Parts: sequence; C-alpha cells; structure tokens
Amino acid sequence: MSNTTEVIIIGGGVHGASLAFHLTQRGVKPIVLEKSFVASGATGRSSGLVRMHYDTELDSRLAWTSFNYFRNWEELVGGACGFTRTGFIQIVARGYADALRANVLMHQQIGIPSLIISAQDAHRLFPALLTDDFDIAAYEPESGYAAPSDTAMSLMNAARERGALLIQDCAVTGVQTAGGKVTGVKTTREDFSAPVVVNTAGAWAGRINQMAGLELPYDTWRHDILFVKRPPDIGSSHPAVIDFSREMYLRPEQGGLTLVGLEDGNPLGESPDGDTDHAKPGFVERAIERICARIPAMEKGGLHSAHSGYDGITPDQHPMLGTAELEGFYLDCGFSGMGFKIAPAVGLCMSELILDGKTTTVDISDFSPSRFAEGKLVKGKHSYNYVWR
Ligand SMILES: Cc1cc2nc3c(=O)[nH]c(=O)nc-3n(C[C@H](O)[C@H](O)[C@H](O)COP(=O)(O)OP(=O)(O)OC[C@H]3O[C@@H](n4cnc5c(N)ncnc54)[C@H](O)[C@@H]3O)c2cc1C
Repeated sequence: MSNTTEVIIIGGGVHGASLAFHLTQRGVKPIVLEKSFVASGATGRSSGLVRMHYDTELDSRLAWTSFNYFRNWEELVGGACGFTRTGFIQIVARGYADALRANVLMHQQIGIPSLIISAQDAHRLFPALLTDDFDIAAYEPESGYAAPSDTAMSLMNAARERGALLIQDCAVTGVQTAGGKVTGVKTTREDFSAPVVVNTAGAWAGRINQMAGLELPYDTWRHDILFVKRPPDIGSSHPAVIDFSREMYLRPEQGGLTLVGLEDGNPLGESPDGDTDHAKPGFVERAIERICARIPAMEKGGLHSAHSGYDGITPDQHPMLGTAELEGFYLDCGFSGMGFKIAPAVGLCMSELILDGKTTTVDISDFSPSRFAEGKLVKGKHSYNYVWR
C-alpha cells in the first residue's frame, strides 16, 4: 500500500463515499480514511428523506440533480440505495402560503415535479392527516426516502471497485502543511501524503478544520428521531410529510412503522461523541404528542424505538463547500441536518471543483466557506425563516 496519493478524503459517511465515487469516475483513486466504519456517523442515523422542496434554489438544484441518482441507482452507481417513492407533502403555516407558492414555482422552473395542492387534496392523499390549519400545501409525487447506510455503502463499493482505497479504524489526528499548502495527514495508523485533502468528517469536521489551523464557524447539531408502530387504520403506507407549522416531519418505514423527527429541541454544541443509541429524556413524549396532534389515529399506535445522531452545522444552516485559506484543503461538510438527499450531486460538484477548478453541474459558489467572513450568509428569496433549534 502506498501512503502517497492524489486525494485524501477524511470521513466515510455518505459525503466521503460520494466524493470517492465521483473521483474514481474521473480516474482518480483517492484514499478514504474513516475513524470507525462506513456510515457510522450521521449517515447511519439519518431519516433518509429524499425531496426537492427548499426555499433556496441551490439546495433544490442539488437535490434535483441527486434525485436522478436515487431514481436510477443501479444503472448510475450499482448496488442499492433503497429509494422508496411515497410522495411528499410540505405543510407550512398559513402566513407562509405566498412563500410556498413562490417556491413551488421556482422548483417547477428547475424541472422538479412539484405542485400546489389544496388541504382537501392533502387529505385525499393521506386521509389520517388533520388538514384544518392550512389551505394549501406543496406536493412532490416522485419523492420519498432512501436507505442512508446502503446509499453510502454502494457509493463506497463502487469507488473501491474503481481503485479507491478505504481504510477504516483509522482516525486522522493531524493535518500536515508546508508553505501555505496541505501536504498530508497524520493518523492513528501512519502518515499519508497528498496535495489534496478533503474534510468530509461531518459533526467532527470542526475538529479537522482546527487541525488545519482554520478558524471557521462550525458547530455540532444533535437530532433525535423515533419510530412508531402505525395502527392498521392508517394504512400500509403514507406520504412523507414535512410540517413546518408543527415543527415536525414523518415518513413511513418498512414493517408498518412511521419515523418521526422534530424541528425544535435539537441541541447545538455537544460533543459529537455523545450517546446516539438513545434519545434525550423528554423527546419521545414531545414527539408522540406532536404526531398525535397531526394524525389523531396515531393514538392507537405504539412506540417502537428511538435513536439520535450528530451532524455538523454552520451559522446559516447550509454546507461549506470549497477551499479555505489553506491551498489543497477542501471542505465538504456542515450539512446542517439536511445533507443526505444532496450527497450524490455534492460529490459530483466537489470532484469537478477539485479536478477542474470549477463546477459545471451546479454552481456551488454560494456555499463557499469564505461567505461567513464576507457576511454573505445564504437565505432563500422566499424564506420560511426555518431554523433548527
Ligand atoms: C437523526 C438524523 C436524521 C437526518 N435526516 C435527514 C434526512 O431525512 N434527509 C437529509 O437529507 N439529511 C438528513 N440528515 C442529515 C444527513 O444525515 C447528514 O447531513 C449526512 O449524513 C452527513 O454526511 P457526512 O458524510 O457529511 O457525515 P457523517 O455521516 O457523519 O460522516 C462523517 C464520518 O467522518 C468520520 N470521521 C470523523 N472524524 C474523523 C477523523 N478524525 N478521522 C477519520 N474519520 C473521521 C466519522 O466517523 C463519520 O463516519 C439527518 C441527520 C441526522 C443526525
């Protein structure tokens, strides 16, 4: 095994795997260093929602480009990503109805199958859903969810088949530099050299940035989710839903389960090494109350399980994609709780940026890490003023 390579990728989550996949598509054989195992971080804990509805055009473009991969996985990547089409309903409070209309128009202009539906239509699509507090919703008939670990694993397997080297149980402990350029990394195993090092370390990426001597605003975000056993009257499946007015999202899961997550009560600033096998005290009660308020029939359901995960988060809750002040050091992190569905496109764009110096698939320059110092935070034109907290 040679310790010198063209590109080192730090982290074997869905973003490290996606970048490795796209680099190998261009003939570059990166080394992926993973401190634990593939998808052991946020990816393996992710709810896996795949939808295109955002209030920022760039996110929607990345999600739409990625959707083509999810829909044609076997042909484009190989293996399985577990994409399941359920349809997706986006609910917002009445005060955001105009923003919803404007955002759906923006999605349609990109080519995304999305439409405005009435509350009655939403009820027809999901009869158990209470629809008395909104008049319209957005609907994406093609959207659904995928299996995040399978997605990461098949990207990584495809990359390895094309020559990428994955080294697990190998934690990066230092970033080596010379003359303002990155030269390699130190690890718990041995040192590796490369002119390009990419930080895809998720919730741990802030630590890697510090190792590289970079001062960038970066925090951790914890998110609990639970699965409930659906009572039979709700049916064998249902659409995925994001419900901003009740700060909640849900989607069906195999085995008659429904996954529920909350938009609030997600602590920032904890150690990413915290316990993710259990939800925080109080979460289950809050989530059950919220789901029963939107779907009263869930009162006859039962708790199945709950778990948690950590992602990296930035001040505007959008990723950091691109170079920072250290030549050859790239950031591909800070996905702020929303990075799964855009991973195939982000890996493609990052491979273009690294190999060609610019992207051709989607212009990701608005997500440049320098935007924080420049005061150019990303916000949608018709924003829902949505914040994780
Ligand atoms: C509970 C939960 C639900 C979510 N639901 C959704 C959703 O429905 N839809 C959506 O789009 N997004 C969702 N997200 C967000 C999404 O899952 C993440 O944005 C995405 O998985 C991040 O992938 P990643 O590869 O950047 O990070 P990770 O998957 O965390 O991977 C980073 C990897 O880096 C490794 N690493 C860290 N430090 C080092 C080191 N020093 N050396 C070597 N390796 C290191 C870690 O072990 C880890 O495997 C959710 C997140 C959580 C936590």
